[in-house]
Amino acid sequence: MELDALIEQTQTAFARRYGRAPKWMAAAPGRVNLIGEHTDYNDGYVFPMALERYTMAAAAPRSDEVFHCESEEQKEPVEVRLNQRFQPLPRGSWGNYPLGVVAGFRERALPVPGMDVLVHSSVPLGGGLSSSAALEVAIATLLEAACGVPLDPVEKALLCQRAEHAYAGMPCGIMDQFIAVLAQRDHALLLDCRSRSYEQVPMRDPGVSVLIINTQVKHALTGSEYPTRRRQCESAAAALGVPALRDVTPAQLTLARDRLDPVVYRRARHVVGEIERTLQAAEAMRQGDWERAGQLMYASHASLRDDYEVSCRELDVVVEAARAIGVEGGVFGCRMTGGGFGGCAVALVRTEAVPAVQARLEAEYQRQTGIRPALFVTRPGRGAWVIRG
Ligand code: ADP
Ligand code: MG
Repeated sequence: MELDALIEQTQTAFARRYGRAPKWMAAAPGRVNLIGEHTDYNDGYVFPMALERYTMAAAAPRSDEVFHCESEEQKEPVEVRLNQRFQPLPRGSWGNYPLGVVAGFRERALPVPGMDVLVHSSVPLGGGLSSSAALEVAIATLLEAACGVPLDPVEKALLCQRAEHAYAGMPCGIMDQFIAVLAQRDHALLLDCRSRSYEQVPMRDPGVSVLIINTQVKHALTGSEYPTRRRQCESAAAALGVPALRDVTPAQLTLARDRLDPVVYRRARHVVGEIERTLQAAEAMRQGDWERAGQLMYASHASLRDDYEVSCRELDVVVEAARAIGVEGGVFGCRMTGGGFGGCAVALVRTEAVPAVQARLEAEYQRQTGIRPALFVTRPGRGAWVIRG
């Protein structure tokens, strides 16, 4: 959906619900991680870009001290009195994302005025494209406008991350909120998860686009996979005598092979290799070497599949179908993106070949899995901004 249409829809829906026009309006993007998976909690690098899919937050003042928030994507409104203490809602309530951000403003003694808020988004919810960070950052940007106090961008991202930890109960890293705040059009963001320093890497070539393929599956695992991976990484770092796997080179890891449990060794090999690949992919992109960037994406996928063991059949089907199309057919590379076990794959595709690639991937995936995937194409979108206020 076009941005202008999304803005207009949000204004229309706002007027329908509240009988007046919004005074403030802000937006924040969803994101896709191009490469650098499961590196964040190892103090490594990630390389996300914003999607041209956005979450809008619109608001008008109220005469009382109530923060009232509705979403076009949810049934239940959320409401709190700003002059009283409030707590997180039950786990799983969408209202925790906006409330967590309001709480962050109050902790900083920024006076949030009473308001009616409406959220509306073109980011798919729960699909691994970080609709949650888009929502937090859209609300934070809206509150900046309403309070008349702009926050430092990094502080804003950290405030939103804290909302996700403390209110939504999700102990996420910094990537999603950072890219939603800091993204620039036609750039991907190389982010150092240890120092929190970052670099905007130009991705200006209009001849290259990013294709997102949603497998439409989310395999329900025991829930222990993520903590188990984290523990394995920590134990590898401890055995090597370093604070995090970020501090290990591939050569050092190979030398230490005998000292590590075989599974732990493979987990560490993914992380150490992926950190290298992420830096190499950023360099390939700086040089416009799309074939190289694409090869690194395939290597990332193989490592996540074989060493980290977080892929699944559906993701593998997409990546193999992309590989079969090849550079001649317009695909530079493809990999799973996000935590794994379902969700989305991301492909670098020659823009002129997008319709043909899309049709072939869709048909092949459906033939092999019986599932209809959801695909969309995007260029790097922009970071959060105030539309009105
Ligand atoms: P992801 O961030 O990958 O989309 P999450 O599970 O982290 O998946 O976040 C999805 C949740 O965020 C939704 O279930 C909902 O609670 C909340 N959410 C995201 N976008 C919106 C929206 N536009 N309106 C209401 N709630 C939203
Ligand atoms: Mg999320």
